Amino acid sequence: MSGAALFAVADGFRAEAINLAYIVACALFILGIKLLGKAATARRGNLLSSIGMLVAVVAVLFDRVITDKGAGGYLLLGSALALGAVIGAVFAARVKMTGMPELVALLNGFGGLASFLVAWAEYSKDLTSAISRDLSVAAGVPVMATIVIGGVTFSGSMLAWGKLSGRLGGRPVLFKGRHLANAALALALAASLILFCSPLDGARPAVFYTALALSLLLGVTAVLPIGGGDMPVVISLLNSLSGMAAASTGFILRNNVLIVSGCLVGASGVILTVIMCKAMNRSVGNLLFGGFGAAGGGASAAGRLSGEPKAASVEDAFLVLEAARSVVIIPGYGMAVAQAQHAVRELGEKLEANGAEVKYAIHPVAGRMPGHMNVLLAEADVPYEQLCEMDAVNPALPMTDVAIVIGANDVVNPAAATDKGSPIYGMPIIRAHEARTVFVLKRGRGAGFSGIENELFLMPNTRMLYGDAKATVTRLVAEFGK
Ligand code: NDP
Repeated sequence: MSGAALFAVADGFRAEAINLAYIVACALFILGIKLLGKAATARRGNLLSSIGMLVAVVAVLFDRVITDKGAGGYLLLGSALALGAVIGAVFAARVKMTGMPELVALLNGFGGLASFLVAWAEYSKDLTSAISRDLSVAAGVPVMATIVIGGVTFSGSMLAWGKLSGRLGGRPVLFKGRHLANAALALALAASLILFCSPLDGARPAVFYTALALSLLLGVTAVLPIGGGDMPVVISLLNSLSGMAAASTGFILRNNVLIVSGCLVGASGVILTVIMCKAMNRSVGNLLFGGFGAAGGGASAAGRLSGEPKAASVEDAFLVLEAARSVVIIPGYGMAVAQAQHAVRELGEKLEANGAEVKYAIHPVAGRMPGHMNVLLAEADVPYEQLCEMDAVNPALPMTDVAIVIGANDVVNPAAATDKGSPIYGMPIIRAHEARTVFVLKRGRGAGFSGIENELFLMPNTRMLYGDAKATVTRLVAEFGK
């Protein structure tokens, strides 16, 4: 066999091996997502997905660099990979559990930016070629779609990151005519997509750069009016968009693994967005076309009740808890801050040993990321059967002796049902106030994520147990041992 023939066989083998690696990577992603569905298998799922990503990255190196740029390409890519890996590892090592949502927002934004830049680079490369004069729909649509989705994802995520990290204030910013402005921007972008793929000659760059600027602007105007308790839904939508942008980039680069992984992120993000919308009693249409979480806008007052919340001592609370036959524990963000989950499990065990029926009521947006409370309580080995979803536990609350609210605020705020002017109006809550006695564990007068007052603290059946949640729960546990 001649040298050329041998080379052709080797090249064919390389192509097959790369395709096989892509299939293996996709299978690992799908298996990983499936395992992430249960707390017990989630770690394995994460590991498998990461291995899938490693396989995909190595395969891309063989797929692209050898053929396109040779050794220089490897050096460039190697440096970029090393830099990205170091930055990612530092972020992951330093982030606190409470800072996860803003990190997710930042990573979504980088995902959108990467797709946006690839589409821009491809467009710039093609400017001088025939494609720019007579652009086929098949070539034009992925470029423009990636610019639009990537641009919205990038600027929207950066704004969400600013809001979640407290750098920009978390409140909704409502400007007059925002629905009209967003609709006009969306229409202009749709029109530019059509124009971009039409025979335009010299006008195509103008259309391209206008769409580029408008997509960045739409990300900002769409996320600005959203704030407070509705931010989790925005994060999951932006996450989904970052996947769609990646899938669209896969069409530009003709890379199957990018298309599949982008679609997986996009689809799972859409499913999560729908679940979160349902949990927050918001419609997806409302989220997409503005006005989301903006009822009335400003901070709502506690409303009908006035006065000071009544404090109780740990000893008093113990006496009530000792006599209780049914207890519902409602954890929130403050439990995560205090890292009180192990102490909370111990308290639950003491109450059970004392003859009480104990349930943990989990609100879908309690904490700062979807499933936050489930993860913490699973880590502390709280039996899975004791975790109750909001809809399951609410009907039982009027028959419950004691509700213990541990670092939760927005998710038990009755204003969500009673105050039309409240930014959380319409959000379903855990109706802790319906229990016979409510103990609220928090450090002081701090507001919840949405920054509003909570009438629950002023209700006649509520007693405040001030202090760090872990310290308070530990003291309650100690009372049971005396
Ligand atoms: P909140 O943020 O409404 O309230 C937390 C409360 O915990 C505060 O009032 C604070 O009061 C108290 N707290 C803080 N640290 C401690 C501590 N060490 N010990 C005791 N208490 C403490 O929490 P919720 O879980 O009720 O609600 C979650 C909110 O976050 C919702 O508005 C949700 O929409 C939003 N969100 C949720 C995300 C998700 O995906 N789950 C993502 C982003 C936002 P004090 O300072 O007085 O102690």
